[in-house]
Amino acid sequence: IYAHESDGHSIDRLALATQLRRGIEVGELVVHYQPKVPFNDSSSCAVEALVRWNHPQLGCLGPDAFIPLAEQTGLIKGVTERVLEAALGQCKQWRAAGLDIRFSVNVSMRALLDRDLPKTIRVLLDRYALPPTSLQLEITESRLVADLGCARTVLHELRSMGVTIAIDDFGTGFSSLSQLQQLPVDEIKIDRSFVINMEADHDDAVLVRSIIELGRNLGLRVTAEGVETATVHQTLRELGCDYAQGFHISRPIPANECHRLLDGMPHQ
Ligand code: C2E
Ligand code: MG
Ligand code: MG
Repeated sequence: IYAHESDGHSIDRLALATQLRRGIEVGELVVHYQPKVPFNDSSSCAVEALVRWNHPQLGCLGPDAFIPLAEQTGLIKGVTERVLEAALGQCKQWRAAGLDIRFSVNVSMRALLDRDLPKTIRVLLDRYALPPTSLQLEITESRLVADLGCARTVLHELRSMGVTIAIDDFGTGFSSLSQLQQLPVDEIKIDRSFVINMEADHDDAVLVRSIIELGRNLGLRVTAEGVETATVHQTLRELGCDYAQGFHISRPIPANECHRLLDGMPHQ
């Protein structure tokens, strides 16, 4: 159906896609890191890699401004590879400095249609001499992919290598519960929209509590994202949540800042 108002956008989008293709090649994508901190002192810290695009004219763009475009134009493969490369390279550096933590990288279902992804990841892990357990993939499913079977095969292959899998934004999106049944999952991440409101909104608090219980009953690690206050942090601790991530602890920050922050936190 022709939509006049989206027509102007399509020209901008085409230009942006061309710029993104170039940006990936010349290294305009940068990765920031946000700590995931355990409630239990005997567990290790982890970090999530979050991509940004240093656009020469538009400045620093967040992922929401270009990931959907990358998915629609097939550029997501290049984005995913760049982020994996940056994150695993960083992981290697930090391990050499005595900071042995797990790195999470976001992978959209779309990127899982790439049958070569397990091989790409294997090559990177070998290049940096990292154990597969140092990498976790966070899977988001904003819309159904055409070939769920392929995505599932790729995930199972990665899981059997030892890479761990988290379901991101749990509780929103298409079918969080059926994903738990169909995909090899190690961790669920409670969507930040529930966590941010749990002080004010009783229903959100009930949802968060129920997801934590569900995760525990299934033997999965549970991370709450969007932890913005000390009160929410304390409530999550009482509810038995495993990890917290959010502005209360730290925003996503450049690698060197994150290294300094993590040095003062428990890790193995
Ligand atoms: P996500 O994976 O759920 O990442 C968490 C997002 O929540 C990040 O936004 C982070 O900055 C934000 N956040 C963290 N703590 C708080 C908090 O306490 N309060 C609030 N209000 N927000 C918080 P960001 O960096 O803009 O990323 C947005 C989304 O873009 C990510 O959501 C992820 O789905 C996607 N994304 C990021 N990097 C990549 C990537 O390399 N590949 C793919 N495919 N997607 C990516
Ligand atoms: Mg994520
Ligand atoms: Mg999320």
